[in-house]
Amino acid sequence: MQSIQELVERALAHIAQADSLAALDQARVQYVGKSGELTAQMKLLGGLAPEERKPFGQAVNTAKNRIEEAIEQRRAALQETAKPAGPELDVTLPGRRRWAGRVHPITATAETMKKILMGLGFSYEDYPDIESEYYNFDALNTPAWHPARDLHDTFYVGQGQLLRTHTTAFQARVMRASGGQVPIRAMTTGRCYRADDIDASHYPIFQQLDVFAVGRKLSMSDLRWTLTELAKGLFGAEAQLRFRPSYFPFTTPSAEVDVSCVVCKQKGCALCSRTGWLEVLGSGMTRPEVLRAGGLDPGKYQGFAFGIGVDRITMLRHQINDIRLLYDNEEAFLRQF
Ligand SMILES: [Zn+2]
Repeated sequence: MQSIQELVERALAHIAQADSLAALDQARVQYVGKSGELTAQMKLLGGLAPEERKPFGQAVNTAKNRIEEAIEQRRAALQETAKPAGPELDVTLPGRRRWAGRVHPITATAETMKKILMGLGFSYEDYPDIESEYYNFDALNTPAWHPARDLHDTFYVGQGQLLRTHTTAFQARVMRASGGQVPIRAMTTGRCYRADDIDASHYPIFQQLDVFAVGRKLSMSDLRWTLTELAKGLFGAEAQLRFRPSYFPFTTPSAEVDVSCVVCKQKGCALCSRTGWLEVLGSGMTRPEVLRAGGLDPGKYQGFAFGIGVDRITMLRHQINDIRLLYDNEEAFLRQF
């Protein structure tokens, strides 16, 4: 009996020290296997006196149960700790990052311009891409017979409806919505559509940003100041502007505006065709017909307006030489910005 007690204690200590499933199995074989130490004790049963058999047999069975129970517990513990270090999880591998999207360079440029102009007090609103002929042309001093309608090869989508050819179409809408409340400082941006040929600098879809102001005693100097602030915000403090006389049906006088070349600092390069200047926008003082279409009295108020090709500014900022790259949306191209 004493020897069985001693055997159990030895076995339990052995099991507790087993540090792997293989070592544990070795212990199992050593004590309760077919030729194990406890199994050998069981075989002594037959040689005992009848009155000794029962207590001896019970003692051996109890010992066997204790040992087997200890083996099962140890096995469960070893399997639990073995799991995370298993071959299916390699904790040394680098983590997998989620793909983050990014803002399209055209959107980023439009947002930058919006921020600068909001800082100058201009409010922002979206307007529909499908516009009426009236707001797109008539309200902008471009009646049906006007040659400017031939300049735009327009996508008409139905009776009196078209895909807007410029965001300038928003002007009369803003003036009418104001109900005669002046001053007005407003801007919008979005896609415009013209049946252009597709080449490196033309595309049937392009994005414009349009800005206009109406107030008392507004003059070209207000226009020039606003444009200078915008150019400095976009191209840096050293940006210079040049105004060239031009023609638009909705402004008089009108001016094309150039900015000093962002690449060569006016020394002359391929981007500016050796002139040192880049053509960036059209502008002018609002014509009385346009103010009248918006329900405002041109005898009391003046306005100025300008429109910028956001695509063109984006191409200049990033020195992209082909507009088609901006609309093809190749991931390899867009990932650079
Ligand atoms: Zn240049």
